[in-house]
Parts: sequence; structure tokens; C-alpha cells
Amino acid sequence: MNTGDTIAAISTPLGEGGIGIVRLSGPDAFKIGQKIFYPARKPPGSYPKNRYLYYGYLKNEAGETLDEVLVSFMKAPHTFTREDIVEINGHSGAMALRMILKEVLKAGARAAEPGEFTRRAFLNGRIDLSQAESMLKLIRARSEKAVKIATANLKGILSNKVAELKQQALIILAPLEAELDFPEEMEGNLSAQLPELAALEKGLERLLKGADRGLMFQEGVAAAIIGKPNVGKSSLLNALLGQQRAIVHEIPGTTRDLLEGLLVLEGFTIRLIDTAGIHGAADPVEKIGVERSRAAAEQARLLLVVFDGSSPMTKEDEIIINLKQTGQKAVFIVNKIDLGVWEGYKQLTQRFPDVPVVHTSALKCQGLAELEVAIINLLEQSPAIEEVEPLLVSMRHVEVITAALDCIRRARAMWGREPLELVSFEVRSAWEKLGEITGETASGELLDYIFKEFCIGK
Ligand code: GDP
Repeated sequence: MNTGDTIAAISTPLGEGGIGIVRLSGPDAFKIGQKIFYPARKPPGSYPKNRYLYYGYLKNEAGETLDEVLVSFMKAPHTFTREDIVEINGHSGAMALRMILKEVLKAGARAAEPGEFTRRAFLNGRIDLSQAESMLKLIRARSEKAVKIATANLKGILSNKVAELKQQALIILAPLEAELDFPEEMEGNLSAQLPELAALEKGLERLLKGADRGLMFQEGVAAAIIGKPNVGKSSLLNALLGQQRAIVHEIPGTTRDLLEGLLVLEGFTIRLIDTAGIHGAADPVEKIGVERSRAAAEQARLLLVVFDGSSPMTKEDEIIINLKQTGQKAVFIVNKIDLGVWEGYKQLTQRFPDVPVVHTSALKCQGLAELEVAIINLLEQSPAIEEVEPLLVSMRHVEVITAALDCIRRARAMWGREPLELVSFEVRSAWEKLGEITGETASGELLDYIFKEFCIGK
């Protein structure tokens, strides 16, 4: 990727809208902008003025007017990419903006690759890698809390925390390396390093603890709707989503694929997964469905266990209840209450005092608000809400911090038993790993991997 040239892209979503923006960044941005833009009235003094919004027309080579636009010229280095930037505000129509972009490219710019503006911002030191990722998270955030975490990280909260941990690693590392290089001067006194190592381990663990919650907001909570066939799982999913997401069948066992729908409740994004009915089916297709249900139940953070309240509980219901793993959260949903409720379901609360029981009629849309409240209450009970700030919002961050933590744990285990070189190697590795969060030690491939996630124009 060449960073010395001028790139351009449509930076707003394609489609009909009030305004669309074509953005240019690079050394020739101003020159290209001036070539195709004709201000209606040039203000006195130098043209173009930095950060001045000009009104005028965009014309092609033949002198034909393409659009009536507002154009701003922003001089490096005080821009998003730290390069000269020109933004053309045109009318947003898929074709209109493409025609503007075409003219910009003809005038000498190159079409930007996905995320290339942000990548330049990173390469030119405007933001670090975790901030670049936070931008992507912000764009993709589906709940208010996800937006708040992303904007906090955008401001550098995660970067500062990681810088702190890196500094801690360095304080441990420096005397170890000095001891290795100049053993006679250091006299081998490294007793202060061990508690420092323990403190660093704690710091990393704390960061990981918050990750669970950060990911929960960012990626959503997986909730599996399980229950034997025909109890109303798909109907419930549809009622909750308020749309016909799953096709409801009369015949037991016809919902064979996993269907997903997103539900946003009080800032939590919940990925509702409807599974095939769980029962000991002989039909091979149905059996695959059952296996999927088991797999979905295993992966889910939350189980929505549905019963047909209008008929007695069966052995199959018991099998399904037993899918709940220790520590996994669940809500029992006694559905079809419009047809009456069997006495037996009253025992659920006695048998499982920790699991809330909600009565619903998916058909008549009854009890849905109660179900939502029960779900929110369970999620609010997630461990360590107040004490740990959720900073890590991507699996990549979690992997990096976990790897750094492993290094520090190994270093601690080796302390006093293994040669100092090995201990020092582990601490250095942890320090390098941490640099991958902010991007100081990130490889070209890692950058490619991260920025390809971005859309063109960002
Ligand atoms: P699933 O196999 O568990 O996904 O069940 P479905 O959602 O496909 O529903 C099976 C049948 O039960 C359909 O005919 C639904 O209309 C019906 N059903 C679902 N929920 C209710 C309810 O609350 N009350 C009544 N009376 N029927 C329901």
C-alpha cells in the first residue's frame, strides 16, 4: 500500500439521501479539488482557505456541471489522516456520487482501499490501533452501551491502560536485563521484581475480567430458545422481534435450522437463536436439528427454555431442562397460557428457585414485557459489573491480553527455578504482546487483517 499518493472514496453510505460526501486525502488533494470545483464566488484573499466551506459547482472535463456542492479544504497536519483533506458535500444518490468520484479519480486520485483513511490516520500517528478498532466498533455498535464503550476507547482509555501495563512490564524487565548484561554490578538483588510481576498479573486479569462484559455489549449476548417441538419457540421469537423472522409450522419438528434475530433491550444486544425441538427423534434430519440445539445451548450465555403450558410436562421437557449447565443463566417460559396452564408447572419455581418463570402466550402477545424484564434482570446480574470497567471489546484484544498474561504467569512460575534468561524472555514477550493492542509492535499482516474489516471511505 502506497501512502504517498492521494486517495479518494465515497465516505457516506450509498443510496438516496440529503447529502453524500466524497473524501480525498493526500498531497494532491487540494490540487485535484481545485481542478474540478468552481466556487460560485471566491472570497477575497488566498484560495483555498484552510477549513473554509466553499459553495459552488463541480464540473467534468467537458465543463458540464455535475452537482451543486459544498467543499472544504483542510490542511495537514490537523486533519483525520494528518494529510491534506478535501471533502466534497454533494447530493446523495448512488449515481451522482459515483460521477463525482469518477471525476476525482480522473483528476489524479486513486480509489481508496477499505479502511485506508483510518489506516493513514494510524500510520501517521493520529490514532493508535486500538482507537482505529474502536472507530469500527462505534460504526457497528448496536446498543447505547456499545457506543459508550467505543467512544471511551476512541478517546484513548484502553490505550492509556495498556501503556500503564507496558510500563509495569518495563520496570520489571529493565533490572532483569541489566542483571544478565552486567551481573557483577547488579549483585543479583531482584527481590523487588517478584511482587511487581504479581501486580502486573493482577492488572492483566482485571482487564480480561471486564472483557467478558465489553464483548457482551459489543458482540451481543447469545440466547438460545430451546424446548421440545411445537411448544411455540418460533412464535415466541417472532413475537419478541415483532416480525415474521422464523416460519411457524404446525407439524412438530419442522424448524430445523438455527434462526437468529437481534433484540435490543436496555442497552443489551441479544442474539436470539431459535433451535430445532430437542427430543429423541429417529428422523435423521430432525436428529441433526437436535444436535444443533444442543450445540446452541452449549454456546449460549442465556437459555430461554420454552414449555407448552397447556399440556403436562414430559420426559422430553426434563431432558431439555438438563441441558442447562451450571452457571448458565436461564428463564423458564410457560407458553400457550391462552389454552390454560397445567398445575405441574407451579413446581418449577420450587425445584429451580434461581430460574425465573414467566407465563406467556406467543399467539396473543401476552407476558412478553415480563419476559423482557426477566432477561434484563438476569443480564444485569452479570459478575463484576461495577468493579470492572469493560475496555476490551474485540476477540483480538482478548487474545493479546491472554497471551501476555500467559507469559507473565510462566515468568512467575520460573522465578528462582529457571535461568534468568527465560524469565526475562517471557516478560519481554508480554511487553511486545501488549504493543500489539496499540499497534506499536503490530505486523503488516495484522494491520491488513484489521483494516480489511473497514468499509471503503472510512
Ligand atoms: P416450535 O416448534 O416450538 O417452534 O413451535 P411453533 O412456534 O412453530 O408453534 C407451534 C404451534 O403452536 C403453531 O401452530 C403456533 O401457532 C402455536 N402456538 C405458539 N404459541 C402459542 C400460544 O401462545 N398459544 C397458542 N394457542 N398457540 C400457540
